[in-house]
Amino acid sequence: MKDRTNLTLSRRSLLKGMAAAGAASILPCRLLTPKEAIAAGFDPNEYQTFRNACPRNCYDTCSIKTYVQDGVIKYIEGAPESTYTKGGLCVKGYSYPRRVYSPDRIKYPMIQDGRRSGKWRRISWDDALDRIAKKILELKETDGNLLGMGLTKYSGNFSITSYGVEGMMSSLGYTTRFVGTPCWPAGIDAQNYDLGDMWCNDPEDMVKSKYIILWGVNPAWCAVHSMKYIQEAKRQGAKVLVIDPIFTQTAAKGDVFWQPKPAGDGALALGMAKHILDKGLVDNDFVNSHAVGFNEFADYLNNNITVEWAAEESGIPAQEIRQIAEEFATADPATIWIGYGMQRHTNGGASVRSIDALVAMTGNVGKEGGGARYGHLQTWGFNYHAMIQSPPEGSVGFSGAAARGEFDFTEGDKSSYSDRTVNINKTAQEILDIKDPSLKLFWVACKNPFAQDFDRPKMERAFDTIDLVVSAEQFFTETVANSDIVLPVTTLFEEWTVNVSYWHYWMGINEQAIKPLHEAKSNLEIAAALSKKLNSLSPGSCTFQEELTTEDWTAKEFNQGIYDYFGIKDWKDLKNGPVKAKLKSSASWSDKKFGTPSGKYEFKSEICAEHGHKALPEFKEGRKAYDKFQLLTPHTQFALHSQFANLDWMKEFNKEPFVYMHPAAAAAKGIKDLDMVRVFNKVGEQKVKVKLTDNVSKDCLIMYEAWYGKNTDFNVQNLVDDESADMGAYKAGAPGAAIHGQFADIEKA
Ligand code: SF4
Repeated sequence: MKDRTNLTLSRRSLLKGMAAAGAASILPCRLLTPKEAIAAGFDPNEYQTFRNACPRNCYDTCSIKTYVQDGVIKYIEGAPESTYTKGGLCVKGYSYPRRVYSPDRIKYPMIQDGRRSGKWRRISWDDALDRIAKKILELKETDGNLLGMGLTKYSGNFSITSYGVEGMMSSLGYTTRFVGTPCWPAGIDAQNYDLGDMWCNDPEDMVKSKYIILWGVNPAWCAVHSMKYIQEAKRQGAKVLVIDPIFTQTAAKGDVFWQPKPAGDGALALGMAKHILDKGLVDNDFVNSHAVGFNEFADYLNNNITVEWAAEESGIPAQEIRQIAEEFATADPATIWIGYGMQRHTNGGASVRSIDALVAMTGNVGKEGGGARYGHLQTWGFNYHAMIQSPPEGSVGFSGAAARGEFDFTEGDKSSYSDRTVNINKTAQEILDIKDPSLKLFWVACKNPFAQDFDRPKMERAFDTIDLVVSAEQFFTETVANSDIVLPVTTLFEEWTVNVSYWHYWMGINEQAIKPLHEAKSNLEIAAALSKKLNSLSPGSCTFQEELTTEDWTAKEFNQGIYDYFGIKDWKDLKNGPVKAKLKSSASWSDKKFGTPSGKYEFKSEICAEHGHKALPEFKEGRKAYDKFQLLTPHTQFALHSQFANLDWMKEFNKEPFVYMHPAAAAAKGIKDLDMVRVFNKVGEQKVKVKLTDNVSKDCLIMYEAWYGKNTDFNVQNLVDDESADMGAYKAGAPGAAIHGQFADIEKA
């Protein structure tokens, strides 16, 4: 190493220091305190390099270049080959080496003597698998099926081969699956009704936009790499409007900020649409040639909507609505990025449809630099080989409606049986309600239900009804505390897989850069080991392929369609760096052939009406307030659910949680800055310090969702119930969650 430079850790040096974390922590488990941080100049030739891809289910799905020396990760950076990642990671990504080598990692299989007792004992893999396998065989014996075994899995590891966890369950027989997604389903359904699919422009083409509305999205924290396109568009003269109930870091970079009432988005969009109609600024070519139902939508606007009404509903002054509507309609191209927060309301799907309509009526759909940007699954055409496993012969399952879910491959299954599917967004209630047979064995992987799901007090009661809870985890989270057996699982650097984004169009391979630490196994290796154990106890009881490496599994996910789409000959080409899809246009729907029944954009959707909603994008009221303040619990810059915030370097800058409150609202309650307060509602309560800020409106409380480590009881799910969003069941298998349709009161503790 040359040119070692001592650093004192300041905000400015944090990223630089984090990148060097591996370089300074020579031994894998050495805990480096921030004061000791050293940035080391380095010669890339001194390292082995590997390709990795962040699987955190974040917009950016970064391609990573990893530098390894003597089997230890020394340095990571964003892949320089990707024009999207462009050599950089976010603050969470840079902290990865701290995660891999954290002394707090779960190192070997453990069993807890009494849930929440903290009395964990180390056991061998053989012992752990023996206990689990015997419980599986017992269920089959007593119930005659395996429906008493449940799986909940989601976004803790969103790589393609992680779907092998679902494959493991299928290889056992028919089980109970928690389906749907808390993330974005109401918006997915809305875009499917309007456009026939969820499909967004390449985010890199935002530089072509002349007008950008960032509606309920905070890329400065949650999609950092997209900010450069927004900034570049601004440099080229684009105007940027940020609409958010919180004055975010993204809002600070915009030209105009609107702070509407939460759930007032639909009214705002319809008010803008009405003014565009009144001023004759509709794109007649688009609505006449490429859309159906516009005349009915125009009638609805004329008969029901005024700008003054929209101002009243949204809290944004009528004159501003008029001005921005005109600017948006006359800019060419103009685009709206629809965030996932705004559809997490009981009227979220209806609001997304109204915003889609605004983009469509101004002719901005199918245009480079335009578009109603929400997400896409265009690059996800893998084989899902790890996921599609056959049940053992003679398996008995649920007899009834076919299983449904985001990735439902059961169509054509000759068996009259299926998995039993229940709503992931009502996990606690479903566990309590499931009967004949009830849930007796629960497998949790790539997920932390106590952080991601809702109504934490009810979740604890629900878990207490289950005989055996098994978690595959990396840290002692609250779900692990509510488990009986925990299995140590690998980080992305310890296994092979492949990742693509639902936002940009790059694909990156994830190579095994280091050997698994401690006794960690990948989810696929756990499945294979469980299969071996089961077949040794009861031959033929599990069909999961037992001898494949994670590299073998990864290779099996590719097909000619993927190769053609990305312009590669072989998946091994990805070892040279990430590749981008060969797009005919950076615009989605550029040929104006939509996926709807009419083949056109549908302002009026019969399918939407058949599903019990309005055929037109009409206004739908948000959830009625049930307490004094609106409560919002978005992601923080420093964490994704329970991931990252517990790491030592993150805690240096984000030590503890707060509830954020407007000073005027606090004064009315006799609350001062940094007071300890009690936030409470019908779900439960949370004690936490308050920070006063006028970044939030007077009628809102903000609590950022994160887990700060094992010695904290902070959990926003103590205050969030499991109310559903209006849409989501059509494409995701279960309605979305009204995560932001929540209310609470606050008082000095
Ligand atoms: S969390 Fe998101 S932005 Fe950060 S490194 Fe991972 S993919 Fe990139």
